[in-house]
Amino acid sequence: MKVAIAGYGTAGQAAALFLSAQGHEVTVFEKSPVLGPVGAGFLLQPTGMGVLARLGLLGKAQAMGQRIDELHGSTPSGRPVMAMRYGDRREGCFGLGMTRGALFELLRDAWPGAGRIRTGVRIDRYDEATHTLHDSHGQSHGPYDLVIAADGAHSALRATCEKSVRRESMYPWGAVWCLVRADDWATPHHLQQRYAGTRQMLGMLPVGTRPGHEGRWVTFFFSLAGDAVESFDDDALAAMHRDVADIWPDIVPRIAHLRHPSDLQRARYRDVVMASPCRGRLVVIGDAAHAMSPQLGQGANMALLDAATLADCLRDHVDVDRALAVYAKTRRTHVRTYQFISRWLTPLFQSDHAWLGGWRDALFGPMGRMPGARTPMLSILTGEARLGRYGYEARPVDVTPLSDEDEAIADATPASHG
Ligand SMILES: Cc1cc2nc3c(=O)[nH]c(=O)nc-3n(C[C@H](O)[C@H](O)[C@H](O)COP(=O)(O)OP(=O)(O)OC[C@H]3O[C@@H](n4cnc5c(N)ncnc54)[C@H](O)[C@@H]3O)c2cc1C
Repeated sequence: MKVAIAGYGTAGQAAALFLSAQGHEVTVFEKSPVLGPVGAGFLLQPTGMGVLARLGLLGKAQAMGQRIDELHGSTPSGRPVMAMRYGDRREGCFGLGMTRGALFELLRDAWPGAGRIRTGVRIDRYDEATHTLHDSHGQSHGPYDLVIAADGAHSALRATCEKSVRRESMYPWGAVWCLVRADDWATPHHLQQRYAGTRQMLGMLPVGTRPGHEGRWVTFFFSLAGDAVESFDDDALAAMHRDVADIWPDIVPRIAHLRHPSDLQRARYRDVVMASPCRGRLVVIGDAAHAMSPQLGQGANMALLDAATLADCLRDHVDVDRALAVYAKTRRTHVRTYQFISRWLTPLFQSDHAWLGGWRDALFGPMGRMPGARTPMLSILTGEARLGRYGYEARPVDVTPLSDEDEAIADATPASHG
């Protein structure tokens, strides 16, 4: 098939790899004139790592990233709120912190077609009748047998499925974030967060190596209300430094070099819910289909799962319409589960409802120690939770074992998986 992919983020990158490997003729359009990731780092879960394993890239990912074994959240006084160990989910389970640059390069270098990506082309519209794409310069492209909208949370192509879009709103909160060098970081296997009520949250996520730079890195993030993200200026930066000194004095030296607002990237979140991600021969994947607050650390993992599932459906069904219908059905429960949990959990960490913070601080710790609650909490973290017709269930991800070659690459870098 002739396949067009709009957007070369994680979803588009993975889709290009899977579909090219199936022999389809893939054309990628990316609006940025220069290819590259935007943002600092993220946490890959066993779900996302399972997809990387299928692509034969998990060993390299482990070598580039940082194995994360535990998540710790506490109040400024050091009182534990959250303590979760991946190993309690099952033996050998872990997360993987990665810089966006590392994941981007890993997926790009694995795709022989990367040199032919049509950069600087912003796709504005899909014409269902002619199966063509139209860009912002008035040029048309195609026709295509299949169009994949992987154009992120602010997707232009989502409008093609207008009737399916149930929710498309800007989240009232966001964050500023950046990478800081941390070769001697004392807890390289822990994601650490500090919460002061629900209006203040900051975190340090070890993410391993950064392409083009030496050493190992940690993503620092600092939560802000949406309008404060937009207007983040010198005064706001000074206020951030004061808040960090109050909430988590230990990390003050790590961020002391951040002297200009542009030293940090800004992120606003979107909340997107679609009844169906498909319309005709167009399928919407990744954040374009289900953007949510990153509190649960699932977005990139879900983008990878979308791409892998779509490829499976196209492989198993010769009829494209049928393949897309099966794709929508296959991904529905998982996507809805995380949309639901994200909507309910995020206000406990980012909102104006201070009482929710007190409730969280009082209950999360004991809940995490109760076997009946700990298992669901862990499966939510690892990306394996589903809310089905019969209530909650956890579906473990079948992470394909590393190939011998992958194993050797991962073993060669003990720092990454300690
Ligand atoms: C602060 C923050 C922290 C996060 N932490 C995590 C985490 O720990 N774990 C996790 O799994 N996820 C995390 N996420 C979410 C994750 O970043 C996203 O879910 C993921 O990047 C989505 O990938 P995507 O390919 O769908 O979209 P994107 O990465 O946004 O890629 C979309 C691409 O499409 C291009 N594009 C856009 N419009 C057009 C157009 N009209 N035509 C052509 N090209 C276009 C863009 O330039 C971009 O390259 C976090 C997000 C934020 C903001």
